Amino acid sequence: MIFLENVSKHYSRSKTGLPALKNINLNVGANEFVVLVGSSGAGKSTILKMITREEKPDKGKIIVGGIDYADLRPRHIPFLRRKIGVVFQDFKLLPKRTVFENVAFAMEIAGMTNREIKQSVPKAIELVGLTGKESSFPHQLSGGERQRVSIARSVVRQPKILIADEPTGNLDVRHSWDIVSLLEKINNCGTTVLLTTHNMEIVKKLKRRVIIVDNGQIVFDKRTGSVEIPQQRRGLK
Ligand code: ADP
Repeated sequence: MIFLENVSKHYSRSKTGLPALKNINLNVGANEFVVLVGSSGAGKSTILKMITREEKPDKGKIIVGGIDYADLRPRHIPFLRRKIGVVFQDFKLLPKRTVFENVAFAMEIAGMTNREIKQSVPKAIELVGLTGKESSFPHQLSGGERQRVSIARSVVRQPKILIADEPTGNLDVRHSWDIVSLLEKINNCGTTVLLTTHNMEIVKKLKRRVIIVDNGQIVFDKRTGSVEIPQQRRGLK
């Protein structure tokens, strides 16, 4: 489903002067649930941006959902984005739109008909447990509920992949776990999930494939069981 081979990325305006990603190799199968862990600045978001094509690699191969990014043209990007739902730490909801309208908006911009919107939006709202709150505005909801709206908006078009970049970063422990449980439910319905988190409690409790990113490299992958200590950490150059 997601395949990265020898992917490197150096931001031209990098403050550290160091590459953000160094020869990343990653293979995530359909229906997997993968947790990316690592300290701030490790490169987690950059890996996700490689997958969403928000950023381009300097080198390396990326294939997502059968699409080789080397062949990707700008006109294919909306089609690609339909396959990938994204959830952010800060929810990114439209403050003057209701819950229903926020979820519907994702379909409107994708050119879906009113009929499709009326069919799909209530299902997505039900999936995230917000039935009854359709007419509420974001400021009338708790942080956990806002994140649920953002998840409903991301899954309403039934993406094959859901990317959640620190979705629990602004939430307390109980709401964080609710959100992670919801991501598991979505994964159980057949969506591949990539989650980044700082929260080690979540990582331990989840019991899913864990990938540790450090200094632009994958240093641990629970599935393969490999622990690759980066060369500079071993004192090698
Ligand atoms: P994480 O998500 O693990 O916190 P990031 O992928 O955001 O890490 O960042 C990895 C490195 O790339 C950091 O050193 C960060 O400062 C740098 N970086 C990220 N985005 C940009 C950007 N748009 N321009 C310049 N440097 C960036």
